[in-house]
Amino acid sequence: MRIIEPWIDAPETQTVCRMLTAAGWQALFVGGCVRNALLAAPVSDIDIATDALPEQVMALAKQAGFHAIPTGIDHGTVTVVVNHHPFEITTFRHDVETDGRRAVVAYTTDPAEDAHRRDFTMNALYARPDGKIIDPLGGLPDLLARRVRFIDDAGARIREDYLRILRFFRFHAWYGRDEDGLDAEGLAACAALSGGIETLSKERVGAEMKKLLAAPDPAPSTAAMAQSGVLTQILPGADVKALAPLVHLEGEHNVAPSAIRRLAAIAGANDGIDLRLSRDEARGLAQLRHWVGTGDTALTLGYRLGAEAGRDVILLRGALLEMPLPGGWQGDLATGAAAEFPVKAADLMPAFSGAALGAELKRIEDRWIASGLVLTRAELLG
Ligand code: ATP
Ligand code: MG
Repeated sequence: MRIIEPWIDAPETQTVCRMLTAAGWQALFVGGCVRNALLAAPVSDIDIATDALPEQVMALAKQAGFHAIPTGIDHGTVTVVVNHHPFEITTFRHDVETDGRRAVVAYTTDPAEDAHRRDFTMNALYARPDGKIIDPLGGLPDLLARRVRFIDDAGARIREDYLRILRFFRFHAWYGRDEDGLDAEGLAACAALSGGIETLSKERVGAEMKKLLAAPDPAPSTAAMAQSGVLTQILPGADVKALAPLVHLEGEHNVAPSAIRRLAAIAGANDGIDLRLSRDEARGLAQLRHWVGTGDTALTLGYRLGAEAGRDVILLRGALLEMPLPGGWQGDLATGAAAEFPVKAADLMPAFSGAALGAELKRIEDRWIASGLVLTRAELLG
């Protein structure tokens, strides 16, 4: 079996492979790029595995005149940049010791050994520079059946790195088949070992959770997370009930997935602080959680939040409160977003100044909003 993909034939890819193979080393594509190529899904980054040691990769890149960055040198990864294209080159390795978070690694020259330290069979597929698939663990049938299955013993894999619990649900959300449900052995191991999640850094957990929630339909996987007790480890107080209705509404109105919108649907009283969201994400989440609970109209939401965030509030209300969406909401959002408050501070001066000016301006704006944004400047000032 061979994969045929534009990124394999790209001169940059072939050049970086040749840099290794010409010196007598192996170069094998691995991980997401092989998995996604086989699923005809988009490939975002190209990971290459090799038997060359990291220092040797660095030296070869230097010799060839490519920029090489020791991005993860203690676990064997060097990023080589060819013509602005980054390639993550990682030396074959096997884990020798773990504390559930950080693996101590030893290098190997055997790709089959390298395969065993990975998480799921579908993530342990390799391809040669000519696209020929190498499948040391029999991951191909699992991939083609869209089965996310831990390599060897699920419990043992999880104890090596508890993040794999979240990755199990994430990869199922993206690549699994919902009719088949999650792999029973994997699910049972995730449930039994969910307590180990608290040993992970909040950054890793937050990043995984966002990737999960950005899947086309994360609802079945998230429901399984809730049922197995994993979700409360991450987001105490979360409730997944509204997620499936939200995803349905998104589909109905052609709205692209958004991890923060989905998070707002399941967070309940949780402010998501434990997910280490960026400042913008946290602000977006707080805004959605606030406005969902107000009675403001689509017109007001459009004016206050803009069309996009306003739309998210409308969809979230529909999902959370099980309400039909208000008639004409899309037009109202657009009207509100385009509306401009007709009164300026200068209109109230010098009669008002300082704090009183701000308060009066706000009072008039509230009146204008209450009028459905229709009162004119003259009416508001009269
Ligand atoms: P994507 O890049 O689309 O998120 P990916 O499978 O490439 O998916 P990466 O996080 O880039 O995911 O990791 C590349 C590969 O490294 C994975 O396919 C897997 O084989 C291995 N890997 C990554 N993280 C882990 C982990 N926590 N435990 C075991 N193997 C892992
Ligand atoms: Mg990747």
